[in-house]
Amino acid sequence: MVALLEVNGLRAFYGQTQALYDVAFALEQGGITTLLGANGAGKTTTLRAICNMVRTEGRVAFDGQPITGRATESIVRLGVAHVPEGRGTFTTLTVEENLRIAAYTRGRSAEVKRDLDQVFEYFPRLRERIQQQAGTLSGGEQQMLAVSRALMLRPRLMLLDEPSFGLAPLIVQEIFRILRRINEESKVSMLLVEQNAALALDLADHAYVLETGRVVMAGPSSVVKNDENIRKSYLGY
Ligand code: ATP
Repeated sequence: MVALLEVNGLRAFYGQTQALYDVAFALEQGGITTLLGANGAGKTTTLRAICNMVRTEGRVAFDGQPITGRATESIVRLGVAHVPEGRGTFTTLTVEENLRIAAYTRGRSAEVKRDLDQVFEYFPRLRERIQQQAGTLSGGEQQMLAVSRALMLRPRLMLLDEPSFGLAPLIVQEIFRILRRINEESKVSMLLVEQNAALALDLADHAYVLETGRVVMAGPSSVVKNDENIRKSYLGY
């Protein structure tokens, strides 16, 4: 079986600083994989490297096709949507404008309308706030909007950077429940970067642990969750 995403010997650089050292992992079609690790371990950089947003060496293949060095827009067009840390929504535009801009290149209005309805089915709060400026939404709603913008691209793979960041536990639970539904119902595979390891291991089927730019552990989430070092370092018990 061909992995949907296959990363091998991935190295990334900020100027002279190397942030990733031969990172390798694979993500099955339909799967949810999480990247765990402390601050500065290289999780965000891994997502940026997949989208060619940082200087990269090594090999990234999407659905069997090498994408290393391709323009970010063309990687997006293949079906990879990035939900960045900090959410990246247009704060002065309304919820609806943010969503329509994401689908702009697709053009066909009937399809876009259907996708909007699908997004609002997942996130009914956004329908209630459709004409509100994105910058006036709560943090949780802004995160919902960021995920929804990615969905408007009809992705096959979503790269999610810290969707729980700065949010209250209840809203985080709500967002993670919806991410699971999106995975199951819309068949979107996910690569999830999270500080909240317990939450990430519950959602994901596979986990990779990064330390100073290297993969130091990998396995099914159920195994990683029960590893003594992981429990002590990331789960706090
Ligand atoms: P965090 O949870 O804090 O975002 P992370 O695991 O996502 O951590 P990265 O942001 O990928 O880590 O950072 C990996 C390394 O690259 C760190 O040493 C960081 O200091 C460095 N780095 C990240 N962004 C830049 C940048 N724009 N310029 C220079 N170095 C950077």
